[in-house]
Amino acid sequence: MSLEMFNLDGKVAIVTGCNTGLGQAMALGLAEAGCSVVGVNRSAPTETVAKMNAAGYNFLDLRVDLSDQSEIPKIIQRCLLVYKKVDILVNNAGIIRREDALDFSEQDWDDVMNVNSKTAFFLSQAVAKQFIAQNSGGKIINIASMLSFQGGIRVPSYTASKSALMGVTKAMANEWAKHNINVNAIAPGYMETNNTEALRADQQRNAAILERIPAQRWGKPDDIVGPCVFLASNAANYINGYTIAVDGGWLAR
Ligand code: NAP
Repeated sequence: MSLEMFNLDGKVAIVTGCNTGLGQAMALGLAEAGCSVVGVNRSAPTETVAKMNAAGYNFLDLRVDLSDQSEIPKIIQRCLLVYKKVDILVNNAGIIRREDALDFSEQDWDDVMNVNSKTAFFLSQAVAKQFIAQNSGGKIINIASMLSFQGGIRVPSYTASKSALMGVTKAMANEWAKHNINVNAIAPGYMETNNTEALRADQQRNAAILERIPAQRWGKPDDIVGPCVFLASNAANYINGYTIAVDGGWLAR
């Protein structure tokens, strides 16, 4: 086996929501593996830009609100204008709303479904069309969740959106594998990011979560980088429609 199959030199990767957390770690990891990265963010990715510049990596900063699918063509156009092609898409941007299912609002349903699954699907569709136009194949990596597998509590739209994302990962993989497009997902477990700050600050919840994780620790953003680079590389050429849990063993319990 040659390590060359993991090399991403000269590849172009679009990563959504990379101003912080898991998206930032994956963007930096893909850049370190050789990619030019197109960062798609609604907030200025100030820290990510600083880290990319310090390491001498290529980073294109696009400012887009992914709750609105009408912006999708602009992402592809700007990427092609600067880098002439696209090879990898990481659908990472995501939101969560917490409320009892009995009181859950239509707004909290629609907002979460919109960003987490609808935009992820239509951005994947746009990128897949470009992969086919380039006759290059390509890799799509969706960031799913433990709640692609489990029900959760007080997060019905998040569970629906991440379950949909895992399902549509398989649906897209089935239709596009013949074009050498690999669509897969990563389901992070409990990771230390802004998203989970309140949970970690709650001593009781924190202790209960840690007690259930076989690895006995929260995941770190860097834990997701290896699986992401792997799925983005030629080493994953015959993996289609699969969701890899990166969860310290949470789902194995
Ligand atoms: P995070 O720190 O909250 O980051 C989420 C990212 O998505 C941010 O960059 C955010 O931008 C972006 N985003 C949200 N709505 C957007 C919109 N409308 N347009 C553009 N960007 C938008 O979360 P994280 O923990 O790194 O999570 C990243 C992904 O992993 C999410 O899909 C999340 O559901 C998933 N995940 C996380 C965990 C965990 O334990 N942390 C577990 C399972 C799955 P802003 O900063 O502008 O809001």
